[in-house]
Amino acid sequence: MTETVTNWAGNITFAAKELHRPHSLDALRSLVAGSGRVRVLGSGHSFNEIAEPGGDGVLLSLGALAGEVDVDTAARTVRVAGGVRYAELARRVHERGLALPNMASLPHISVAGSVATGTHGSGVGNGSLASAVREVEIVTADGSTVVIGRGDRRFGGAVTSLGALGVVTALVLDLQPGYGVEQHLFTELPLDGLDFETVAAAAYSVSLFTDWGAPGFRQVWLKRRTDEPLADFPWATPAGEALHPVPGMPAVNCTEQFGVPGPWHERLPHFRAEFTPSSGNELQSEYLLARRHATEALYAIDGIRQTVAPVLQVCEVRTVAADEQWLSPSYGRDTVALHFTWVEDTAAVLPVVRAVEAALEPFEPRPHWGKVFEMPADVVRGRYPRIDDFTALARVLDPAGKFTNAFVRDFLAG
Ligand SMILES: Cc1cc2nc3c(=O)[nH]c(=O)nc-3n(C[C@H](O)[C@H](O)[C@H](O)COP(=O)(O)OP(=O)(O)OC[C@H]3O[C@@H](n4cnc5c(N)ncnc54)[C@H](O)[C@@H]3O)c2cc1C
Repeated sequence: MTETVTNWAGNITFAAKELHRPHSLDALRSLVAGSGRVRVLGSGHSFNEIAEPGGDGVLLSLGALAGEVDVDTAARTVRVAGGVRYAELARRVHERGLALPNMASLPHISVAGSVATGTHGSGVGNGSLASAVREVEIVTADGSTVVIGRGDRRFGGAVTSLGALGVVTALVLDLQPGYGVEQHLFTELPLDGLDFETVAAAAYSVSLFTDWGAPGFRQVWLKRRTDEPLADFPWATPAGEALHPVPGMPAVNCTEQFGVPGPWHERLPHFRAEFTPSSGNELQSEYLLARRHATEALYAIDGIRQTVAPVLQVCEVRTVAADEQWLSPSYGRDTVALHFTWVEDTAAVLPVVRAVEAALEPFEPRPHWGKVFEMPADVVRGRYPRIDDFTALARVLDPAGKFTNAFVRDFLAG
């Protein structure tokens, strides 16, 4: 091992002997063609071994390649290189007067890594970030490039692919005209009497936060597009001070609040792009289930809140519109996502993760691919009706399993 490579949270140390950073596409192709096992490390923000190639494999970073962001204003699309992060993409798209439909809570995550795991923001009308992808370019096992666009019958497996098809060297994303967003924060939303559908639809993007120290939600973040009406929100109290989702943390790194309008990319993430956390003292889990079960699922967690609260920093509840990526946790169902930011103590957290999974099991949750979960692989596999199609696609594009690791192998069919 020439260097120790960990994920962002530091809970995973990769066993791969080296992190390779090719400086050109040709060098990348040669490296891939000449290696037995390859995985790409994006910005390393996943909390499990999804990116691990294993001790004899090659871990690849696209960080030394040109970070192309090529906006086509007439077509309203952007071609973005495989190593680019959302913060840079959003800045460049905004400069051209255009916008992405949505962003995740943190802008520092890579685009290719995010869409590979089904990463999402919030909004009843907003699909996962992969929904904006219209074309993907993949360097496959022999070093050649395959381009798969919307309309290709393979497309449903090509974007949220867990990195199992090859190295994504570029993506083309749909854009829309630029828009403004205001954040309106509220406190103390009770669980009793909660009309989840109405609350979740009260703005373009809505997040509920709680520490489960008591029933109900400590904070509500409404992100309203300034070209849409401002809905009344009579169920909670307007916040009197700027807030960080984690109780007691200073709000200085959070995006502007108090209804101050600003461009989409400076309001949709919860955290500012100019604040770059190099590592995090936390673990995360998240479960995505059909939105119609939202209230029952929240009561199920409320029922074990005395188990959850001691190891929880914060729980966030968001919505995601159904999408069509076969391995997306929001595939085929309008979704509610229950996210948990834990303390960084794995031994203390895992039993609680299992308790959360048991409480949510009646609602057939799908775990976020990039976060900590304990659900058995066969149960997870059973939640994906197109898993056989994905496995077949992986076998065609990667017959020798060069891009398959232990994590992915567990979930593929047969
Ligand atoms: C602070 C924080 C906030 C987060 N917020 C959200 C959120 O709001 N919503 C949400 O849904 N998730 C969220 N996540 C989870 C995060 O979005 C996912 O873990 C995502 O995969 C991170 O992207 P990454 O580039 O860091 O991926 P990595 O962890 O580096 O990799 C993830 C997977 O993508 C593959 N991959 C990466 N790049 C490529 C490529 N170029 N070609 C092929 N495969 C590739 C890897 O091999 C691996 O399988 C958050 C995580 C953190 C740490």
